[in-house]
Amino acid sequence: TDLAHIRNFSIVAHIDHGKSTLADRLIQETGTVQDRDMKEQLLDSMDIERERGITIKANTVRIDYTADNGEQYVLNLIDTPGHVDFAYEVSRSMRAVEGSLLVVDSTQGVEAQTLANVYQAIDADHEIVPVLNKIDLPASDCDRVAEQIEDVIGIDASGAIRVSAKTGVGIHETLEAIVHHLPAPKGERDAPLKAMLVDSWYDAYLGVIVLVRIMDGVLKKGMRVKFMSNGTLHHVDRVGVFRPGMQMVDSLGPGEIGFLTASIKQVRDTRVGDTITNDRNGAEKALPGFKPAQPVVFCGLFPVDSAEFEDLRDAIDKLALNDASFSFEMETSAALGFGFRCGFLGLLHLEVIRDRIEREYDIELITTAPSVVYHVYMKDGTKHELHNPADMPDLSKVDHLEEPRIKATILVPDEYLGDVLKLCQDRRGIQLDLSYAGQRAMVVYDLPLNEVVFDFYDRLKSVTKGYASFDYQMTGYRQDYLVKMSILVNDEPVDALSVMVHRDRAETRGRAMCEKLKELIPRHMFKIPIQAAIGGKVIARETLSALRKDVTAKCYGGDATRKRKLLDKQKAGKKKMRQFGKVDIPQEAFISALKMD
Ligand code: GDP
Ligand code: MG
Repeated sequence: TDLAHIRNFSIVAHIDHGKSTLADRLIQETGTVQDRDMKEQLLDSMDIERERGITIKANTVRIDYTADNGEQYVLNLIDTPGHVDFAYEVSRSMRAVEGSLLVVDSTQGVEAQTLANVYQAIDADHEIVPVLNKIDLPASDCDRVAEQIEDVIGIDASGAIRVSAKTGVGIHETLEAIVHHLPAPKGERDAPLKAMLVDSWYDAYLGVIVLVRIMDGVLKKGMRVKFMSNGTLHHVDRVGVFRPGMQMVDSLGPGEIGFLTASIKQVRDTRVGDTITNDRNGAEKALPGFKPAQPVVFCGLFPVDSAEFEDLRDAIDKLALNDASFSFEMETSAALGFGFRCGFLGLLHLEVIRDRIEREYDIELITTAPSVVYHVYMKDGTKHELHNPADMPDLSKVDHLEEPRIKATILVPDEYLGDVLKLCQDRRGIQLDLSYAGQRAMVVYDLPLNEVVFDFYDRLKSVTKGYASFDYQMTGYRQDYLVKMSILVNDEPVDALSVMVHRDRAETRGRAMCEKLKELIPRHMFKIPIQAAIGGKVIARETLSALRKDVTAKCYGGDATRKRKLLDKQKAGKKKMRQFGKVDIPQEAFISALKMD
């Protein structure tokens, strides 16, 4: 296809504003998929994605469209992940296309993710076509939302297309706008190959599938290519496009989006943002801005049943093959035995991996508290990255610590503003900005990531009854007075419960954790002290009193089956517990103890 007849675009939207429904409608209207093959949310393929209604991997589809001017166009849509954990991937996908549809729910207006995503599109120099969706609903208010888009984002929304992705109104106009308002891609066919690696994933039949955008040159089946980030060479055995099923083609030229396979075994060997070129006389300079995605949240994953350790290793190995941004290493915990310390892009990423291990591999897990990566500066001048509070060196050898900070943007109706400010303040936030976007307040806070990874989002949802939207980006590291707080149960330190906290918050957090643990740990035949300590100093303490009767006592020795049932129940409950010294701690304690109310 010649460049003038290609349009590459993505759709940016806040979650639930209708991105997937609109994509489905565009695919359907152009006859890309026969009506009988049409199922909802075509682009959200993975089970977890469908269930949660989120996109985790970038998906793409090539659409043939005959415009009203009679010309044939090829439209390539890249559907980007909609979650902040995958912001790096979004920014890569954005660089693979020239324009965006900005979808805003006309009953709701601009939200935090609308902003985060549209700024990524603006950064990537996109032409942006605003689309007001859900006009079939009575609460739709297009004029107000168009005005808000102009006020808050600063782009012209006078020509915004009014759409109902549900009924199909405005879909034709959207296709015409893509053709007429978005620019054609640029590129040189005769130059050396320069293809951007947009995404990659594992396919059981074809091995690793690499999604690419051709910037210059031609990618052909049978050629040898070089991945510029690590110099590896690969023989291209297939080239194709998604419609949305895979269809093989002989070559892809400048401006086109498609995939290659090259007998690559591990997704790990491909890096999002990398440049692919010819093995000889290739491009001299790689595409700008490549950086591998870094895990920012770490936690321990341990099998509830220690006999399942090898199964867990197997599951983690397999998942890692297909997810280059997930890192892991073996970890031994005095409390939990053998397991893995795993690194994730964020909490959602963590949950997705944990769900898959439990569901697809049927292994019950104990997940320890998520922790961010601290920078530890030692008195001897060396610097370490701390991924696990249990590895915190002796305080006397530490000069200072730095923690990662974020810039968080929250949009919230005025009536909840006070609660949001209080929440951010409680989490050691520093207010950077407060303004209004229509009826909604927009607050920007500088916050420690540590205070956000755990339950910030849940708390925000609950104090605002779900009316707030939230997005963040990492800003850098800053020094603060941080300490490791240990928890001792029956005088034994439980390493999996250690956390890093700000010194000023240690007492409050310590007290809260001890109280929670007191509720969560069942009573034993003896008294159990539960303590929080910094170094050797105890800062909070609770005592769990001893059990007076045994569980079967109330059966008066009469009913033997009932007695056995009770004992069985106790045994089943025990399986989910871990013994520490003489004390059984239930699995949920490891997460619940850290929740702050
Ligand atoms: P996404 O999270 O942006 O991908 O949003 P979805 O496409 O999954 O849509 C979220 C919800 O809004 C779903 O229940 C859709 O059926 C619904 N929806 C999407 N577009 C429209 C529309 O134009 N009108 C109405 N009434 N509902 C819509
Ligand atoms: Mg969706």
